[in-house]
Amino acid sequence: AHLEQIEALNPTLNAFLAVDADGALATARAIDARRAAGEELGPLAGVPIAVKDNFCTRDLPTTCGSRMLEGWVPPYDATIITRLRDAGLVILGKTNMDEFAMGSSTETSAFGPTRNPWDIDRIPGGSGGGSSAAVAGFLAPLAVGSDTGGSIRQPGAVTGTVGVKPTYGGVSRFGVVAMASSLDQPGPVARTVLDAALLHEVMAGHDPRDSTSIDRPVPALADAARLRDVRGMRVGVVKELGGEGYDVAVEARFLEAVELLKEAGAEVIEVSCPHFTYALSAYYLIHPAEVSSNLARFDAMRYGMRCGDDGTNGAEAVTSITRGEGFGREVKRRLIIGTHALSSGYHDQYYGSAQKVRTLVARDFDAAFELCDVLVSPTTPTVAFKLGERMNDPLAMYKADLCTIPSNLAGNASASFPVGVSDEGLPIGLQVMAPPLADDRLYRIGGWLE
Ligand code: GLN
Repeated sequence: AHLEQIEALNPTLNAFLAVDADGALATARAIDARRAAGEELGPLAGVPIAVKDNFCTRDLPTTCGSRMLEGWVPPYDATIITRLRDAGLVILGKTNMDEFAMGSSTETSAFGPTRNPWDIDRIPGGSGGGSSAAVAGFLAPLAVGSDTGGSIRQPGAVTGTVGVKPTYGGVSRFGVVAMASSLDQPGPVARTVLDAALLHEVMAGHDPRDSTSIDRPVPALADAARLRDVRGMRVGVVKELGGEGYDVAVEARFLEAVELLKEAGAEVIEVSCPHFTYALSAYYLIHPAEVSSNLARFDAMRYGMRCGDDGTNGAEAVTSITRGEGFGREVKRRLIIGTHALSSGYHDQYYGSAQKVRTLVARDFDAAFELCDVLVSPTTPTVAFKLGERMNDPLAMYKADLCTIPSNLAGNASASFPVGVSDEGLPIGLQVMAPPLADDRLYRIGGWLE
């Protein structure tokens, strides 16, 4: 059924870059046979799933939405992919994304934009717009994404799906093409809170191959999603995440959800996180700095594309010509900003200051979590905007992640849950933020709101 839906809708939505129909059917049949033979299988065995195209898959190309890696098939699976396969999930294919996960609209993909199933003239969010559009459009019941500044939560909000950024280190990054290593975190995309929790449980847990992976037990996430009880929870409304620049409908749905939590017995408190105001600026120094270092590996020697190798050019020229051809505008913009921010003479002024702001943001969270069990805000300031609307205005594009970025800087758990639609019928998300390793609290709130 999902393969048929992909065939019918993918030409319009462009959510999938690669579909593995034969592989998916073979896996599904194998799972059926094992179940028929009486084998005890996990709750997600046989369930189809879409995978963002920055997770290495040994049987499918992994492009990161870039010409640089067009046609590249990795020689190994990411840890998450191995876990999905072991749990019996059926990989349908790879989904579109902003180039190397840089963007908030999936428009920087070298393979064309993805469209939002709710309104095909609008963006599905980004960078993981392919995964979220696939789930929202019923092309897949589940997907995996990666969230560096909001790329699971922001697409979740604008497509009416559930998107979770686990605690940094909670889900392995091994085999996820690195963008900004101190911020990147894989997580689940789903249509229901319980689905997301079940997938999160498959993905989570220590991986010795990721040096930042946390070696601690994973909290019971599906149980939290099923609890449907928020009595006594202390919910903090972050004062700085709202007001000017926020859509009226976004604020209205947010306040209604907060009111519902209050009626259900949660204690609602207003909290101030004064440094959140500077989080976006700090992110757009730290992020490009890490990008400029991580993307140095695309040198025309190791992976993918190679141009200018005609016998007259030296190695340096081949690298330079290839990077000039292979990377798109947004990637180049970040490489230049990052290289500048790290250059001697400017390092302290830019990168050093940004790291200090990062610490202050983390301290704001620490102080707020002394008073509250979770914090809430809108996930995004606005509903899905029109395709093309922000492509020539990087700052407007960056603002889509205003509310989501603080959790990446601090590394705490964070999620977006659907809380209704605007007057024109466009989805709106509520963001819930929990302390590191308390991912279960996200599901407790989300499960109740659903
Ligand atoms: N939109 C943000 C950026 O462009 C976040 C991207 C992400 O989370 N991968 O950097």
